[in-house]
Amino acid sequence: MRRTTDVMVIGAGLAGLVAATEAADAGRRVIVLDQEPAASLGGQAWWSFGGLFLVDSPEQRRLGIKDSAELALSDWMGTAGFDRPEDHWPRQWAHAYVDFAAGEKRSWLKQQGIALFPVVQWAERGGYEAGGPGNSVPRFHITWGTGPGVLTPFVRRITEHVRAGRVEMAFRHRVTALTTTSGPDGIRVTGATGEVLVPSGAGRGEPSSREVDGDFEIVAGATVVTSGGIGGNHDLVRRNWPTGFGAAPATMISGVPDSTDGLMLGVAARAGGRLINEDRMWHYPEGVINHSPVWTGHGIRILSGPSPLWIDALGRRLPAPLFPGFDALGALRHITGTGHAHSWFLLDRRTIGPEFGLSGSEQNPDLTGRSVRKLLRERAGGKITPAVQRFLDDGVDFLEAPTLPELVARMNELAGADLIDPVALEQVVRGRDLQVRTGLGHDPQVTATAMARTYFGDRRMRVVPPHEMLDPEAGPLIAVRLHVLTRKTLGGLETDLTATVLGSDGNRVAGLYAAGEAAGFGGGGMHGHRALEGTFLGGCLFSGRVAGRTAAILA
Ligand SMILES: Cc1cc2nc3c(=O)[nH]c(=O)nc-3n(C[C@H](O)[C@H](O)[C@H](O)COP(=O)(O)OP(=O)(O)OC[C@H]3O[C@@H](n4cnc5c(N)ncnc54)[C@H](O)[C@@H]3O)c2cc1C
Repeated sequence: MRRTTDVMVIGAGLAGLVAATEAADAGRRVIVLDQEPAASLGGQAWWSFGGLFLVDSPEQRRLGIKDSAELALSDWMGTAGFDRPEDHWPRQWAHAYVDFAAGEKRSWLKQQGIALFPVVQWAERGGYEAGGPGNSVPRFHITWGTGPGVLTPFVRRITEHVRAGRVEMAFRHRVTALTTTSGPDGIRVTGATGEVLVPSGAGRGEPSSREVDGDFEIVAGATVVTSGGIGGNHDLVRRNWPTGFGAAPATMISGVPDSTDGLMLGVAARAGGRLINEDRMWHYPEGVINHSPVWTGHGIRILSGPSPLWIDALGRRLPAPLFPGFDALGALRHITGTGHAHSWFLLDRRTIGPEFGLSGSEQNPDLTGRSVRKLLRERAGGKITPAVQRFLDDGVDFLEAPTLPELVARMNELAGADLIDPVALEQVVRGRDLQVRTGLGHDPQVTATAMARTYFGDRRMRVVPPHEMLDPEAGPLIAVRLHVLTRKTLGGLETDLTATVLGSDGNRVAGLYAAGEAAGFGGGGMHGHRALEGTFLGGCLFSGRVAGRTAAILA
């Protein structure tokens, strides 16, 4: 079936919904296509924790955090480490995005009805000298309602546009090619063709059938690609695995649904769009196997406070500053460099309550359900949340034992080999405990943990008072086997500041725009090598808004 529209949006995740609402607000007719059924509307954002990077916000100021656009930009650039000629547009997007996060973002979010949890979290602490990677101050603002709370205003606006006849939602439509014409001014994208997939009763996030029921063609004045990244496609992840990181681990788990298959990026490249920085990805080394999987290889990321000891598969401590929550990419590179697919967190029961969070809306029903009562009941005083307790009870990666030798025996049993020497590990833990006993010490993790507690948010919610891990009162001991969890794609379609896709000759591909993860959140990689966290949802909001507005003007 052939249809015509002003604007076509490929992908009904957050970036697509924002772009579509902006174009429809400007009076354009919009078709939004997605290969998944309506049950998965909103894509990854629905599953997300709803963490948003904001700079010098009222929430930060109320907590005494001194932030500024200048400091945030310095942190961003130190974290991104832009080092390639193709970083021209990513760098421009980074500047524009930090301006947005330090300026209009919060009031725009408020206008949309998005509210924030008052205690700002400190993600990606870095631990390097000034100018190096990491957030100098806490900037991770959790949306009240988590991921679904971020989506709600855009779903509402889209629904209104659908009712008004300006937007058509075409689920189970999978784009397999973009149609183009070429003239003296270069390539122009004029629409797309693809497959209509059989109806699917798959629930949210579940894999759906790829059986084809028909085909379609859409002619559009403007085509916006918001198809997400590659994290659900381990073949693509392996093919693009960064050099210098060792081989991609033999086993990885997925932090994104199967629909994050990355295939549309290839489709856009075949139509003339240029893909850059494909080897830049943001996977997490702290993934655990989900006891209740929704998608293939479903893993959950542990958001840990800084106290657990992080040890590799052989029981050796990761070097400073690779403590939990400090430098995700550095830890990933170190772990994959060991040639083993897993590492471990070692902690005790006193620590797990305040320090273990789990990323994802469904793992945080109190925040997702906006329930203050539930939050106080389940978290106050550093309690182990029901979601973490469920992993302790049913998670295959979680082990408990009263003594270290018994714990190590279980760790070796789970790993299927005697990789860890219990005597050597006990020496490591005793050495660390000796440092804690001083109340001062020179162990960088012990001192970093004590320092973190000078921040109110860490002291009250996140970081346990330093104590000896082998103190039986703090036990039993806990070990958690950690897997590499694939998640975000930092590279993507190269775009200029209008979100127009560029070709390999550097010229604009007329009629083609990209936003969200498909565009590396803007420019083809505005994060560079690493992210400061909370910058992905915000990247979808910002780049989706730009793409929708540009498409509305140029369609
Ligand atoms: C568990 C979890 C926690 C997270 N927490 C945070 C957080 O706290 N803060 C933060 O900033 N970020 C977070 N993120 C990341 C963030 O949610 C994503 O990066 C972002 O939502 C990506 O949105 P998107 O619109 O670009 O792509 P997606 O949400 O992936 O949407 C893309 C859509 O395109 C469709 N599609 C793909 N190819 C085609 C095709 N050929 N034809 C038709 N349709 C197609 C897909 O089916 C999908 O629905 C989290 C992600 C997850 C999974």
